[in-house]
Amino acid sequence: MPCTRHVKRIHILLPLVLALLLTACSRSARSEKHERQVFAMDTIMLLTAYGENAQAGLSAAEATILSLEAALDPEREDSELYALNHAEGASVSVSDATLQILETGLTVWERSGGALDFTLYPAVRAWGFGGDGEYRVPDDSELSALLALRGMEHIALDGHAVSLAAGQELSFGAAAKGYTAQAAVNAMRDAGVEAAILTLGGNVQTLGTKPDGSPWVVAVQDPFDTGSYLGTLSLDGGTAAVTSGNYQRYFEADGQIWHHILDPETGYPVRSGLCSVTVVCPDGTTADSLSTALFVLGEEDALAYRDRFGGFELVLVTEDRRVIVTGGLSFSEHGDFTYVYVD
Ligand code: ADP
Ligand code: MG
Repeated sequence: MPCTRHVKRIHILLPLVLALLLTACSRSARSEKHERQVFAMDTIMLLTAYGENAQAGLSAAEATILSLEAALDPEREDSELYALNHAEGASVSVSDATLQILETGLTVWERSGGALDFTLYPAVRAWGFGGDGEYRVPDDSELSALLALRGMEHIALDGHAVSLAAGQELSFGAAAKGYTAQAAVNAMRDAGVEAAILTLGGNVQTLGTKPDGSPWVVAVQDPFDTGSYLGTLSLDGGTAAVTSGNYQRYFEADGQIWHHILDPETGYPVRSGLCSVTVVCPDGTTADSLSTALFVLGEEDALAYRDRFGGFELVLVTEDRRVIVTGGLSFSEHGDFTYVYVD
């Protein structure tokens, strides 16, 4: 009798144990973290995906990044942007990527009164911020000659056909990584990934919720001490957090620091009183375009832009060590700053 009872218990217990084991296995497959590092667009990119489709998702994201790098680099003679820049005013048929970046850029260009301007490329290149170029300080007359053709009002869109004024040249340095992060996350989603976070330099893009249910947490870098951070942001899935900062790309010459975000009026690195601008919103291209434009505009006009058009949140860091955080953000302080919270 005891023996029978024992056997019976095993019969009952075995399926139970198996079921528990299977649940644990599938839960751990669902939450397993996979990472990949990619170097593209002059940037170290860290891609993280969770779950059983993670490897396929990472490969899809990497392929997307590399193909966008090839299409959007104006220095590559086989790129789409090179073709557009050398069409001498003729119309060129462009991909969805170029069209979407141009459309978003045109909106931000118009709303910011020209603070974001893709046609600054000749000036960007003269400073050596265009890619492989050597850093140098151009003089006033060189810069004003290079700015003669500036202005996004000369860009004409007709479906996928785009034309520039003859002699104009564009670069998407201010928005390409935002678009790329967004496209890479979409590629992951299409490959069956439900949870991922991508960090492309100062561009972060999230997908879904973290398998353990906790929010995605990203650090906002301290512009005065780039090895440190001044706070953390908790992000929902499907959010971009993009930072433009004067510490991200710069060089020293003639006893001065020259950084990579240019004032469209002068062609010189802009002094707006800001050290960094972080924009949080669902769309990566918009976040990246805005981070550059609002850096140029400065604190007051950046906040006025948000009041007027909305749809995004901000962390602004000023030269006098204030950190301004807007209403809809979940932010934790870390460091010796004056933190100011606005609606
Ligand atoms: P990062 O390249 O570090 O992501 P941003 O998104 O702020 O930083 O873009 C800055 C880049 O955009 C510069 O390196 C340059 O190529 C280009 N750029 C600089 N100033 C402007 C501007 N006012 N409008 C549009 N593009 C700009
Ligand atoms: Mg930008």
